[in-house]
Amino acid sequence: MNIYTGLNKGGHSWTPQFVTELNQDDCLGCGRCFKACGFDVLSMVGVTEDGEIVDAFDDEAEKKVMHISNADNCIGCQACNKACPKNLYTHSAMEVTAV
Ligand code: SF4
Ligand code: SF4
Repeated sequence: MNIYTGLNKGGHSWTPQFVTELNQDDCLGCGRCFKACGFDVLSMVGVTEDGEIVDAFDDEAEKKVMHISNADNCIGCQACNKACPKNLYTHSAMEVTAV
């Protein structure tokens, strides 16, 4: 296995760190990460008293939290975690099979 790397504009190698987890228990629902991500990875959801994930505007929602809804769209820039006041995101490099 190799680690996937790309090139920046200057032709230098960099290793994308793709989003893998979000600690929803501590999420403030502030939306800063959503604004920082330009790749349609994140969406706001609601959480009921029982911990069930529902639509953000559902009457049963006790609070709103961010959700990783389209992880495959992630480019690994880590802007979401930089924008998050609580550093709730986990990222990791992607392993690829050598060809
Ligand atoms: S790492 Fe970048 S592309 Fe991926 S979810 Fe965070 S802000 Fe969006
Ligand atoms: S920036 Fe952090 S606290 Fe705010 S919605 Fe995103 S994950 Fe939650």
